[in-house]
Amino acid sequence: MFPTTVAGSMPKPSWLAEPDKLWAPWRLAGKDLEAGKLDATLLAIKLQEDSGIDIVSDGEQARQHFVHGFLESVAGIDFAHKVEMGIRNNRYKAMVPTVTGQLRLKGRVHQMEARHARAHTKRKLKMTLPGPMTISDTIADAHYGDKVKMAMAFAKLLNQEARALEADGVDVIQFDEPAFNVFMHEVKDWGIEALHRAIDGLKCTTAVHICYGYGIKANIDWKQSLGGEWRQYEEIFPALAKSRVNQVSVECRNARVPLKLLALLEGKDVLVGVIDVATDEIETPEQVAAVIGEAMKFVAKERIIACTNCGMAPMRRDIAAAKLKALGAGAALARKKYA
Ligand code: ZN
Repeated sequence: MFPTTVAGSMPKPSWLAEPDKLWAPWRLAGKDLEAGKLDATLLAIKLQEDSGIDIVSDGEQARQHFVHGFLESVAGIDFAHKVEMGIRNNRYKAMVPTVTGQLRLKGRVHQMEARHARAHTKRKLKMTLPGPMTISDTIADAHYGDKVKMAMAFAKLLNQEARALEADGVDVIQFDEPAFNVFMHEVKDWGIEALHRAIDGLKCTTAVHICYGYGIKANIDWKQSLGGEWRQYEEIFPALAKSRVNQVSVECRNARVPLKLLALLEGKDVLVGVIDVATDEIETPEQVAAVIGEAMKFVAKERIIACTNCGMAPMRRDIAAAKLKALGAGAALARKKYA
């Protein structure tokens, strides 16, 4: 009962990349960088294992950013001429690359770290990929002329990599779709269809992560603007409940999401976010167990997996480590309390 996992990313060691930031520049190059990424992957797994995390991730140590880590392996994109684009419905302005031709994978995207992780842990292994809607919202288009068409093209490539990750021995493949909380109508119109194409033919467990973003300023400001109750999930959960995705990862700790909305995910495993990634305050095991107890009112307990609210990439490393420990200890406490 109450297995534990993480949304995906963990902070990188300071010898690998500049600490405490998103898009952190690498501090190594060439062969040293490739070796460093694998060493950091091992450390991320060890830290999760020691903290009592049951379904471990590679910590996304081998990629600079959750979207661009994938795009780097895609041909048909012009990275040299970046254009400014408002993303997540203009919540941020970002300099983004442009799709200029037919999209295709140049090769494997995450083979190296997935195989390395698989070789060094006996626990269940999860790998994450960006979702097709979120990718399409993070890149300019000068080729397809249609956002949906472009998203479907990305979904096909994601499926190609996902199938290969499954063959590498990955147990859970998760698609990160923060855009699902922003374009709720599009989720129903084509977002879930795109996700279905991305998971097509997979036999491993599939998951989608939808959140209110990392603890960076633009997200914290956006959250302030959302009012007392965050009901975005209400619009998309019924459609997700009908989808073929097995698990849904959502933010619960310190979120203004009414937890009763989780009842709309009937039939899905719910990755309940019990660790806030937007604050440096370390949760106590009692606080973690309390969120699990709240979620149990709306989700069958055998369907609850305790998780972080979102990725921990931009966080201080010692704080992330303490939060992982709290996650493991809190789930253990919940098992005792609610058995
Ligand atoms: Zn997230």
